[in-house]
Amino acid sequence: MNSPLVPNYARVPLAFERGEGSWLVTRRGERYLDFGSGIAVNNLGHAHPRLVEALKAQAEKLWHVSNIFEIPEGERLAQRLADHSFADQVMFCNSGAEANEAAIKMARRYHYLKGQRERYRILTFENAFHGRTLGTIAAGGQAKYLEGFGPKAEGFDQVPFGDHEAMRAAVTAQTAAIMIEPIQGEGGVRAVPHVCLRGLRELCDETGMLLIYDEVQTGFGRTGKLFGYEWAGVAPDIMSVAKALGGGFPVGAVLATADAATGLTAGSHGTTFGGNPLAMAVGNAVLDVMLEPGFLDQVSRSGLLLRQRLAALGDRFPDIIGEIRGTALMTGLRLNVPNADFVAATRAQHLLCIPAGDNVVRLYPPLTISEADLLEGVQRIEAACIALQDNMPATAKAGASA
Ligand SMILES: *Cc1c(COP(=O)(O)O)cnc(C)c1O
Repeated sequence: MNSPLVPNYARVPLAFERGEGSWLVTRRGERYLDFGSGIAVNNLGHAHPRLVEALKAQAEKLWHVSNIFEIPEGERLAQRLADHSFADQVMFCNSGAEANEAAIKMARRYHYLKGQRERYRILTFENAFHGRTLGTIAAGGQAKYLEGFGPKAEGFDQVPFGDHEAMRAAVTAQTAAIMIEPIQGEGGVRAVPHVCLRGLRELCDETGMLLIYDEVQTGFGRTGKLFGYEWAGVAPDIMSVAKALGGGFPVGAVLATADAATGLTAGSHGTTFGGNPLAMAVGNAVLDVMLEPGFLDQVSRSGLLLRQRLAALGDRFPDIIGEIRGTALMTGLRLNVPNADFVAATRAQHLLCIPAGDNVVRLYPPLTISEADLLEGVQRIEAACIALQDNMPATAKAGASA
């Protein structure tokens, strides 16, 4: 009510004092099972000892020097990201929106430097989410995020998700790049079929457009691969990442092929904090854990177990759970009750999850979650479903099952 904070968030009246793996604990000692991971950020859970150690060790040595100097920890992290992706080069920044801004700037300037000054338009998809800067709300194209913020930044064209004809028709000689989330996150955990990604790649190769993946949410193990695009085996030219790269420490990055990266020549783009030694130390520690043999396989196994148990719940509560979406621990439930009601009902069971578009709720537990905690989470979801069922008007129950 009288918070000194700007009211741009309708906050849940819950404040956590500490986190332990998959659990969040309030000041009064109430424990909540975290199936949100700070919206796909705390992929290694809370207070992971390896991350805490890396941050503390770096904090005692050096925090910040500016990008006018070499930052060896950043060179190392960039090399490792390149070694484990399609990319040759990496630029660090501080958030997902900033990574997307840099990706857009890189794509535009790539064509500019080739003498194609008119080629600056970016093609995106309906219900996309690319961030909240003036550029990225134009890229995302959602009216609810654009409203009241003045003229929409020029140079973005949007087509319906999955409409190939509309997309081919929207491509002109001015189109610089296609930008897409391999699985839409905020949009409702909606996966792009692999064959569509392949089609986009071919279209880009035919026309000289660049393919940009926004892997801010799908990145860093959430889908059981380090990056979501690996499932399709279709590489982009540019890719933005952020969220789980720092496991909770703010950091983002743009990954690019050597060719695409030529767009950002010396002096053309920059950031004060991006890639500072603290962020780089944590990013390297995140990779240390995720690249250990078996880590990603375990994520896939956990995802399979969760999906099986959710499918059983879906059979029992068809009036509540409509559809299970996603890959591995990037799980979405499309609901037959308002997703806000579902989120509130699970919170009453001390389980945290996150609403998304298309009446979906996202279940994003830490990738490190134990089988026992995962099953505990399913039990809490079951309890929430029972409570929701009990509260349904008899007519709605009869209507939904008729
Ligand atoms: C969260 C998110 C962003 C924005 O990231 P910020 O760090 O909030 O700027 C962009 N794209 C996708 C796919 C996201 O999930």
